Amino acid sequence: MESENPNYEHSPSPVSRLPSPAFRIGIGNDTHRLARGRRLIIGGIEIEAEFGAEGHSDADALTHAVIDALLGAISAGDIGAHFPDTDERWRGADSMTLLAAANELVKARGYEVVNIDSIVMLERPKLRPHIDGMRERIAEVLGIAVDCVSVKAKTGERVDAVGEGRAVMTQAVVLVTRTS
Ligand code: MG
Repeated sequence: MESENPNYEHSPSPVSRLPSPAFRIGIGNDTHRLARGRRLIIGGIEIEAEFGAEGHSDADALTHAVIDALLGAISAGDIGAHFPDTDERWRGADSMTLLAAANELVKARGYEVVNIDSIVMLERPKLRPHIDGMRERIAEVLGIAVDCVSVKAKTGERVDAVGEGRAVMTQAVVLVTRTS
């Protein structure tokens, strides 16, 4: 899954000859516009809703934020560089496939995921009944315990794009640890 674009990664740092850190963190976020006639997939779970998320892939905003956090933890650029929305290969793509690919990249760098914390901001429907399903799906793809994947749901209190029901926004942080 290495990108053909040679510029997708940050340049090696001048201190890169120092030992790799035992732990690294990454952060990610995402926003998708909501629209009628689209599916709403969050954390790999399809949720019945009046409005779904627009996007080139399956528009799974939570999984996209987790992917960006994984890539960030190993300074490997971002989701747009690895899976560009101009690439027909990713049209309608299952974001779980992209998550698995990002996880392989983490492993190839000699790291593995310790835990993830995340937030989904969506006005409706209520996500609570689906939270454990999302956690299980993400944990399964990453090969980690469900206990190590946290998903929290918030509304936008009727303010701004989330609160007005026009967007779903997500945030994720991940900790990875060196395996060798
Ligand atoms: Mg996205």
